[in-house]
Amino acid sequence: MVPIVVILALLAAVVLSVPVANAAESPLVMDNTAPAASSKGAWTHAATTPGFHGDGYQFRIAGNGSNVFSWPFTGQEGEYDVAVRWTAGPNRATDATYIVKHQGGEAKAVVNQQQGGGSWYRIGAFKLRPGSGQGVVLTDQANGVVVADAVMFTQKGQTAPSSPTPSPQAVALLPTATPNPSTPPPAKAAPSPVPQHAPPGPSKDDPRYFAQTRYAITEDRFWDYFQKRGGLNTFGYPVSNTFALLGLKTQIFQRQIMQLQPDGGVALMNLLDGGLMPYTKINGSTFPAPDPEVIRLHPPVSDPEYHQKALDFVREFSPEKWQDLPVGFYRAFLNTVRYEDAFPKGDGDRNLVSGFSLEIWGLPTSRPTADPGNKGFVYLRFQRGIMHYDDACKCTQALLLADYLKSLLTERGLPSDLLAQAKSSKFLGQYNSQKPQSLNRPQDLPGSDLRSAFRRDPTVTVDAGHGGKEIGSSFTFQDGARILEKDLNLKVARKVAAGLAQAGYSVIETRTTDSGVNRSNQDLTGDGQVTVSDDLQARVDIANNAGTDLFLSIHFNGVSDPAMRGTYVFYSPGRPFADRNKTFAEMAQRNLVKRLKDAGYSTVDRGARTDQSVLGGNYHFYLLGPQGDTIKRESRMPAGLGEALFLTNPEDANALRQDRIVDAIVQAYIDAVREYFSRYEPN
Ligand SMILES: [Zn+2]
Repeated sequence: MVPIVVILALLAAVVLSVPVANAAESPLVMDNTAPAASSKGAWTHAATTPGFHGDGYQFRIAGNGSNVFSWPFTGQEGEYDVAVRWTAGPNRATDATYIVKHQGGEAKAVVNQQQGGGSWYRIGAFKLRPGSGQGVVLTDQANGVVVADAVMFTQKGQTAPSSPTPSPQAVALLPTATPNPSTPPPAKAAPSPVPQHAPPGPSKDDPRYFAQTRYAITEDRFWDYFQKRGGLNTFGYPVSNTFALLGLKTQIFQRQIMQLQPDGGVALMNLLDGGLMPYTKINGSTFPAPDPEVIRLHPPVSDPEYHQKALDFVREFSPEKWQDLPVGFYRAFLNTVRYEDAFPKGDGDRNLVSGFSLEIWGLPTSRPTADPGNKGFVYLRFQRGIMHYDDACKCTQALLLADYLKSLLTERGLPSDLLAQAKSSKFLGQYNSQKPQSLNRPQDLPGSDLRSAFRRDPTVTVDAGHGGKEIGSSFTFQDGARILEKDLNLKVARKVAAGLAQAGYSVIETRTTDSGVNRSNQDLTGDGQVTVSDDLQARVDIANNAGTDLFLSIHFNGVSDPAMRGTYVFYSPGRPFADRNKTFAEMAQRNLVKRLKDAGYSTVDRGARTDQSVLGGNYHFYLLGPQGDTIKRESRMPAGLGEALFLTNPEDANALRQDRIVDAIVQAYIDAVREYFSRYEPN
């Protein structure tokens, strides 16, 4: 048996940075349509999303790893830089997993395919030999649509070092598992702007620990159930620790909530029934309400033939086609739990598997319904989840609804439309770490103890404003030198991210190169056009998807009046967590003024200010404000936007030419983040 060196991604939510540099040799590029490339299972060909290599790409919805796309290595034996590309989109997997099979074993790289489409991403350097099963494999075990486009092998010099070296840009790569004693393990990942920060508790190579959300499945029976009922595909990632809720041991996942029953079995909470979450508008989407006419037709649970009748009911109410759209609801239902997952030893009755799908979903409680805001989205409501058909990818998946029960409990990441419907919920705003059992109203939730429910390490998203075509403000000095805001933002943001990582925070960066963040130019706001709003939405989506606790956007100011100078930090007052926004903005403001002064520059302290004070009326900065006419999906965490100095003012701009001033600004932001988390715990 060949010992295997595994390289595991830590933070799949992070965009794997910059395009690969040109190499001396002409690289071997293998498209998905190359004769040697092959797939196991059905991978649909498409050319709808731009950014692909050749004449299209192939994709499939998330599976259990039994379907793979392979690009075998066909070049001459040698050491190669291996890079991959995909087309990005909001329904893509954030944990698409490539496996490089090379002479030293296997290396795994996890990438976020929601970002960074249409560019090459370097996985690392590996020794490869043709005709020996070596090359790159992409698996369908993921949390969203997986895209197979192309792979590039770029040969390195013949005397290249013997150990594979993960790219310093491939921030997520880290050696784990048992190193191969005969082959040196991959060199320790180069210093990275993103933390390889070990959380307390489970180690990062524990399969029960999920770096994406930084929670682990520690209860053995939950872990067994997770594996046997479809894993990530069915449940999504854990978003809580194990805790007591209404008398039962409970763990919240993105799609479902597991509870340990008194008899030792695991059951799922009826998320959409029984007053838990009877809502229809969440985060800008409109779902069908439970339809009493449909519910009236449910077979009675007391019926001796309930099981068969229930499955017949699902078949009847979960069409494959609806109004000419291939919604595939029944197939998605049946594919929820696969036989191999339920019975890994192959010793179970195949007929039981559809019953397991019933266990996960319950019965349909609505008819298929299109989203009034997006005719390409069709929903089918079940007792324990909502199926979502997306006509853009022709794929059907479960929505991440259980995550919102956590939002209700914590009032963090709570979309304002959901809040408006949940005012009388017994769950709303219960979590309070300062109270006994961490509950605000324990009488409403008897048998509950939230003290350990959400404890984990803080995550900060650092956003470098502008990028690519959007240069922001600028200044041209008399010697002809020019400072562009986008460059300065990036320089400061990268240093802040590195400093925070060193201090032990998990850090997400919205961009690490000079480019926009909506790199595949998608209409993310659904308004029929691609504008700066989509680029801002991409930044918000990254922060939201990473479960960010604090969002910091870094800018430098610019106005037409060159006399205007000084320091501002902005926040939004129109949020449920406005007090935190204000506190953080004040901390950042105070630290900026102080650090600049310590560095010998006396700025004008213009204070922590609301975004409304700049924009007037009820308008908010896209990154900071609540959703509404201009903001499609709001940021779901406390946030601040810093304008440390004015680039349009000669005095401020001149100060910014000096490293010690830039470093003072970097340090001020780091200080502010630390101060914030010394006051508030994450989540
Ligand atoms: Zn700016």
